[in-house]
Amino acid sequence: MENKFKELRKLYEEVAAINSANGVLQWDQQVYMPSGGAGARARSIGALEEIAHRKFTSPEAGRLIAQTYDWAQGKGHDSFEAGYLRAIKRDYDKAVKLPSEFVAELSRETSLGIEAWTKAKKGSDFSVFSPNLEKLLDLNIRKAELLGFEESPYDALLDLYEPGLKKSSLETLFSKLATGLKPIIKEISSRKELVSNALLKGNFDEDTQLKLVNEITAALGYDFRRGRQDRSAHPMTCDFSIDDVRITTRTCRDYIGTSLYGSIHECGHALYAQNMAPEFEFTPLAGGASLGVHESQSRLWENIIGRSEPFCRWLLPMLDKHFPGNFDNASPEELYKAVNLAEPSLVRVEADEVTYNLHIMLRFELETLLLEKKLMVKDAPELWNEKMREYFGITPKNDAQGVLQDIHWALGMLGYFPTYAIGNLLSAQLFNKLSSEIPGAEALIEKGDFKPVLDWLAKNIHTHGRKYLPEELVKKAVGSELKVEPFLEYIRNKYSKIYGFDSNCAGSQKSEFRSQNKNTGNNKVSPF
Ligand code: MG
Repeated sequence: MENKFKELRKLYEEVAAINSANGVLQWDQQVYMPSGGAGARARSIGALEEIAHRKFTSPEAGRLIAQTYDWAQGKGHDSFEAGYLRAIKRDYDKAVKLPSEFVAELSRETSLGIEAWTKAKKGSDFSVFSPNLEKLLDLNIRKAELLGFEESPYDALLDLYEPGLKKSSLETLFSKLATGLKPIIKEISSRKELVSNALLKGNFDEDTQLKLVNEITAALGYDFRRGRQDRSAHPMTCDFSIDDVRITTRTCRDYIGTSLYGSIHECGHALYAQNMAPEFEFTPLAGGASLGVHESQSRLWENIIGRSEPFCRWLLPMLDKHFPGNFDNASPEELYKAVNLAEPSLVRVEADEVTYNLHIMLRFELETLLLEKKLMVKDAPELWNEKMREYFGITPKNDAQGVLQDIHWALGMLGYFPTYAIGNLLSAQLFNKLSSEIPGAEALIEKGDFKPVLDWLAKNIHTHGRKYLPEELVKKAVGSELKVEPFLEYIRNKYSKIYGFDSNCAGSQKSEFRSQNKNTGNNKVSPF
């Protein structure tokens, strides 16, 4: 049986190597490729994906998985072999449902979609991207049908990113979140004048910004011997292997917050990838337990740590060093307030942590309607703007600030956005747990000593890769299932202090949540 397992590992290693090479092509497309290269690149990426898919779904792979599965489980639930077979079987069972030709077509359309989206966003013209989105939507509906679902095509796609989660559970979750956030945002909105982010605005040389964020991410523990940071239109993390994990950031000359927090966010993803167990390299165990778990890492570093008071005390001298003059009379308290300005805004990646989840709810609603054929692609920009008015009371000036702002649909990824909200919730639970286990965590952060925090995350999350399903991993790490309340409590405590309101006024719904969601069965998302 050992030999069969070796055969399976050899076969998968080739699949992983092809996928890794394909990742480099995709990274290059985002970072360096001239736009003229789009057509050829699409064909190369599509061809490689098809080869990898064909190899992975070959009868030989299926036979080896079937032959070694029980043997591997016999080694014990936590063994490498058992985790390996659980992960590969999950992937295989999904992959065989998608014909190679379909995978190649989706891949080609995705590459073309990215190119069209880039142009459309630049010219703020949805009609440039609209035909591509229609095609990508059709392919996603077909994908959901091929994978199979009971209630909504959304379930089949969501399961790819967040195994086990259903649209109906999300609706309940989002309803809870909205109910909890609503009074907090109301309090904040009535005290707008108390917080300003003027400190982060000015004239910031963009190359210097890159130097600054390189220094910050290195301090957080990002290993530049096994990574690099570049600029791209949409910040991202690409891991080709455990020893080559790259991040990108976006710089704005007149606002430092974009590169600063975009970079810390991607660094959180990259730390996950760099701290995986080395023996998982080129196996199905490489990667994150789910996208939500991945996002919990980026949000924990970006928000819970990166926007904390101790972090701001560490950060201010660093900002001052790179941009002498810009932060001359600033205090750490001012910086803390500036990075925590909360207000309705147009762009998700720049949204504060209080309103962020509403951006997710908006996309979740649109995606659901599109996939269930209740909304035409051509009507998406209008509904987007309508929802922006409904949730935030603001209207995007153009489609670049509206429906075209995210790359996800161009990447052919529908059902992905909710994972960001899952990440937000989990990040609060993780931070509660790690700060209870690391003595003086706040003091360490203030000193710029992030190692104990990173070590805790590496031990409890990163090292496990895809060995456990999200539910099991979360239980192991924090001792309970995913919950809404710790996140709401974190938001309530933090923002009641920043904006000076009574946390009880905005926080007395704790018990209300339980009764409300147990009895009403109200699954409708009802953000304000
Ligand atoms: Mg992210």
